[in-house]
Amino acid sequence: MILETNLSKMKRLARIRNDENLDFRAYLKELPFSSRKIDKVVQETLREVSEKIDCTQCANCCREMQPVLMPADIRRLARETRLPLQSFATRYLKKAPAGHSGMVFKRRPCPFLIDNRCSVYDARPRDCKSYPHLHRRDFVQRTLQAIGNYARCPIAFNTYEALKTRLARRILPQRS
Ligand code: SF4
Ligand code: SF4
Repeated sequence: MILETNLSKMKRLARIRNDENLDFRAYLKELPFSSRKIDKVVQETLREVSEKIDCTQCANCCREMQPVLMPADIRRLARETRLPLQSFATRYLKKAPAGHSGMVFKRRPCPFLIDNRCSVYDARPRDCKSYPHLHRRDFVQRTLQAIGNYARCPIAFNTYEALKTRLARRILPQRS
């Protein structure tokens, strides 16, 4: 598997392949297979892709994304930074955009990204741990999220690309 990690190229390809990505989404939704079966292929693919990508060389999610912080995340980070909760919130946080609960960091890149590494790694928000969220169940119901991350996360990009081949190859022949 040859992986793409060039972020400028990924962004360009995301624009070019937008229709193709949406078509693949529609194809997945129509497959007469259980979400469990599709998730199994997604997880295998994700594992193979993730093993080959070094997030410490990328850190693009920490530059471009705004993780949502819930109260437990905020308490953990305040402890980690040895700040009173209120001071931590005033210094680093603002309300998440309308329609979302929780808080987000005031600025991007994340204030805790130092030398391309997370300086609060053990206390990082759950949303950061979970990103790009492909390990979660019911991939077919979350393909828009995967397409949204396709342009900015090499793991999301390469997993989605590999799935186009794998799911078509593994599942389509069984339909005939
Ligand atoms: S999760 Fe994706 S965007 Fe974040 S560092 Fe890893 S490869 Fe890069
Ligand atoms: S808390 Fe850490 S993992 Fe999360 S965005 Fe900031 S630097 Fe990245």
